[in-house]
Amino acid sequence: MPGILVYALHDDEGNFNKNSLGAVSEAAKLAGELGTEAAVAVVGDVPDDACRGLGAYGASKVWRAKSAPEGLAQPIVDVMAKLISDEGYSYALFGGGLLGFEIGAGLTARLGAGVTMEVTDVKVEDGKLVAERPVLQDSAIVDVGYVDEPAIIIGRLNAFDATERNGGSAEVADVDVELSEWSTKATMVTRGESRGEDVNIEDAELLVGGGRGLGEADNFKLAEELAAALGGAVAATRAVVDAGWYPYAAQIGQTGKTVAPRLYLAAGISGAIQHKVGMQNSENILAINKDPNAPIFEFCDLGVVGDLHKILPKLTEAVKAKKGS
Ligand SMILES: Cc1cc2nc3c(=O)[nH]c(=O)nc-3n(C[C@H](O)[C@H](O)[C@H](O)COP(=O)(O)OP(=O)(O)OC[C@H]3O[C@@H](n4cnc5c(N)ncnc54)[C@H](O)[C@@H]3O)c2cc1C
Repeated sequence: MPGILVYALHDDEGNFNKNSLGAVSEAAKLAGELGTEAAVAVVGDVPDDACRGLGAYGASKVWRAKSAPEGLAQPIVDVMAKLISDEGYSYALFGGGLLGFEIGAGLTARLGAGVTMEVTDVKVEDGKLVAERPVLQDSAIVDVGYVDEPAIIIGRLNAFDATERNGGSAEVADVDVELSEWSTKATMVTRGESRGEDVNIEDAELLVGGGRGLGEADNFKLAEELAAALGGAVAATRAVVDAGWYPYAAQIGQTGKTVAPRLYLAAGISGAIQHKVGMQNSENILAINKDPNAPIFEFCDLGVVGDLHKILPKLTEAVKAKKGS
């Protein structure tokens, strides 16, 4: 039975990121339908407990390559290529993100495999995985099957939900991997993340997105105050990032990040397709825009037609009052 191998990225404290946990959950769900198991490859000296904890997302086995460096694509390609050839995994699944794309592409080349990128969903058909991939600026979805194994599936960032199940604990096994000569040419000097306001927008549960409707850079404080009251983070459109109003780390969309918070509050954002593709998976979308014909009203859950300069401060006050601060 074909097994699925997932790569899970972690920080220096051994915390796996949401995007990777989503990939583990997705693989576990698919493995259940295929009648097989989902395994995870982790690199670096990740504590046993953290590795076992991936069982809560459905992983049955965690392969830990302690001596391989985390964060560089080629050593991780070495680890995954060895596991696939030794253990016979039929699929490798990645949650996307820059590193996932790089490792997935490298693994594809190394194994001469088939690959699908920017995948938003995966299904089982006739005992095989079929990847769903949006095309033509997300106006259509194509099904991509594989003629051979192993097959590589690279999700769009945060496309897969990280679903915790009760009581799972994964078996942990250490694996020794001899790194290829070219994989040791680069070394990691330092690891860090570029974060807007010290918050990673990809992990935030509540996001206040600001667009050109804010009028000027200083007015981002309206979005920041509301985000602070809600306990969330601030995101931005490309128009305001290009204008230098807000850092690129906060940009959502085709050329920015993909997010899926519980609430995305879009303030002064028109809802261009290139922005929509980065936030359309949000659980609830609330839009404030003074133009009743703004495209964002076509796909938001709740739309408020009005001036954000009046509405945002009132909303912040109301949230603070509700929270009693
Ligand atoms: C190849 C390519 C890639 C791109 N990638 C991205 C991307 O990754 N992310 C992205 O966001 N964009 C991207 N874009 C740009 C995208 O097409 C839009 O131009 C951009 O998203 C618009 O940003 P905006 O909504 O802030 O501005 P606008 O489209 O100018 O919208 C501003 C909105 O604010 C409203 N408004 C104005 N004043 C107020 C007020 N006082 N109160 C309430 N509402 C008000 C207006 O009615 C309007 O709807 C890309 C474009 C291209 C061509």
